[in-house]
Amino acid sequence: MPAPPRPAAEPPLRSAAVLKQLMADHFAAVDRAAREHHRPVAWCTSVGPVELLRALGYEVFFPENHGALLGASRVAGETMPRAHALGYSPDICSYLTSDIGSYLAKKTPLAKYGLQGAPRPDLLLYSTNQCREVRDWFEFYGREWGVPVVGVTSFRDLGEVEEHHVEAIVRQLEALVPELERVASRRLDGAALEAAVARSRECSDLWRDCLGASAARPAPLGFFDATIHMGPAVVLRGAQEACDYYRLLSAELQERVRAGAAGRPRERFRLYWDGMPVWGRLRDLSDLFARIETGVVASTYCNSWVFDALDPRDPLRSMARASLELFIARAEGPKERYLERMVDQFQVDGILFHDALTCPNNSNARFGMPQRLRKQLGIPVLVVDGDLNDLRCFSDEQARTNIEGFVEQLEGGRPVPARA
Ligand code: SF4
Repeated sequence: MPAPPRPAAEPPLRSAAVLKQLMADHFAAVDRAAREHHRPVAWCTSVGPVELLRALGYEVFFPENHGALLGASRVAGETMPRAHALGYSPDICSYLTSDIGSYLAKKTPLAKYGLQGAPRPDLLLYSTNQCREVRDWFEFYGREWGVPVVGVTSFRDLGEVEEHHVEAIVRQLEALVPELERVASRRLDGAALEAAVARSRECSDLWRDCLGASAARPAPLGFFDATIHMGPAVVLRGAQEACDYYRLLSAELQERVRAGAAGRPRERFRLYWDGMPVWGRLRDLSDLFARIETGVVASTYCNSWVFDALDPRDPLRSMARASLELFIARAEGPKERYLERMVDQFQVDGILFHDALTCPNNSNARFGMPQRLRKQLGIPVLVVDGDLNDLRCFSDEQARTNIEGFVEQLEGGRPVPARA
């Protein structure tokens, strides 16, 4: 996007320095384990059953986090064509193509943390609760490195989560254990699993508190900053460090809430963001919304790492239920009811749906949902076409014009078409 006049910036959170160090330590620890083999290393999908890995002493790497780094650093533009040339279509998940391309091109933003590439795993563990793409993604590396690829084939588009769904996932989790134990060369300890689930639940509750703080006006944590601060909820779920971090962040956000609007940008309107971030345009979009004095105060995406069902007293069953209750795994009806609750909780003036070309799984504008919600809730909606990593699918000019037009119309109280 061409540079618009600089908006009054949100003052940075003090916690950001702690976050930076925490993420650096995480990458260093996985990389060291992969090089020195003092601990087993696994890759896990971002909402996969990581607690099993924690209980067995694995260091865990999350390739979707790497995908996001590739997008945010814009290295993805250079790496994706390498995967396309191998037959991975430009139409499929651009995290997948960015990451596989990064491996082929030997180019990674992890270099700034001293890593030469994504740490090589001893095992890859997926769950298709979010999409089938993650399995294809992991199977590329399984073939490449000759390491086991195991996982859960989950239900998708669920209306109600029923007991037989939960039971089927529990059976699959149980069936994973012997292979996870074999690679880790140790037995799964029930108490260690309960402790890992307890830490995941605590992390989830604390992260929910952080996000929930933005029900206040003005919101102390906007969507664009939240996509950065959610790092530990993704890569350190089930580890104590994530809980410690969110306790700190939550306290700082509460300070902001108590201080009110002092020293903060104006928030004339409040919006909800549904869908993936546009990683390569986080800063530009954040600046644009600040300039038009509009807060993007809540999102489906950042809430995806809130797992209400986790319960250390019943670890496997609660892990199964939590994985099935995820927004992304649900049918249109439960998704709409969820968005209705969010609109009410955060008192937003409108919803922006990001329709990410290469992630139909996390794009909710293709089956009439924006139009239905506009009618049911009487709330303006806007659909912005784009992508998580492939910036060829995102027009800066069009996005800016549509967003500015949307906010102008909010101002004038005029009817707003879903797609401008
Ligand atoms: S949910 Fe979307 S972005 Fe995430 S791995 Fe699946 S296809 Fe890719």
